[in-house]
Amino acid sequence: VVEVQDLNKSFGDNHVLRGIDTTVREGEVVCVIGPSGSGKSTFLRCINLLEEPSSGSVRVGGEEVTDPDCDIDAIRRNMGMVFQQFNLFPHLSVLENCTIAQTTVLKRSKSEAQATARANLEKVGLSEKADAYPAQLSGGQQQRVAIARALSMDPQLMLFDEPTSALDPELVGDVLSVMRRLASEGMTMMVVTHEMAFARDVADRVIFMDGGVIVEEGSPERVIGDPQEERTRTFLQRVL
Ligand code: ATP
Ligand code: MG
Repeated sequence: VVEVQDLNKSFGDNHVLRGIDTTVREGEVVCVIGPSGSGKSTFLRCINLLEEPSSGSVRVGGEEVTDPDCDIDAIRRNMGMVFQQFNLFPHLSVLENCTIAQTTVLKRSKSEAQATARANLEKVGLSEKADAYPAQLSGGQQQRVAIARALSMDPQLMLFDEPTSALDPELVGDVLSVMRRLASEGMTMMVVTHEMAFARDVADRVIFMDGGVIVEEGSPERVIGDPQEERTRTFLQRVL
């Protein structure tokens, strides 16, 4: 689904991504871990072109996203992204938050959009909040709405950038269990996270990044349980 080859990204003279190579297969759950500033968010943002790569290749569903001829809107529509900050529209109800892009971007009818939205709100456990406004919800509920909104676009791939790090600790579990369920249903997911227990249980593969490179990657048992690189061990000692 995603093929990244020699991806480089600089901001001015700050060379943030230094030759990232990896492939994410359909149905795979990849967790990206690493210290602050290592380039994890930049990496995800290059995949849906929120940042433009400086060089290298990013293919999504076989399409080169950096190709000027490619339809980036069509590619983005196939990817759901969930951020640390939920970015819900405050003036729209939960249901409207989940239907607006379906009707405007996918041109679905209102009734079809609402049916899809309700099915996804049910999936994240928030059916009864369809008519509430974001400000009336807890952070964990807002994040689950953000997930339902992304799912309502029927994405092939879900990108998560630290979806639980802005949440109070008691709200983290509900969001992680929604993500676990998505993973078990076969959704292809790339997840930047500090939740090592989640990475260990749910990831098919863990990527450890430091200094803009992939230092090591492999099964969670390998990378978290038995890291081969000193930098990985140092990082894990700090976070575990
Ligand atoms: P964290 O765990 O703190 O979220 P991260 O691994 O996600 O860190 P990035 O946000 O990708 O790290 O940032 C990597 C580097 O790129 C940092 O040095 C940061 O200052 C720089 N950077 C990121 N986005 C921009 C931007 N839009 N403009 C300039 N520099 C940026
Ligand atoms: Mg980040």
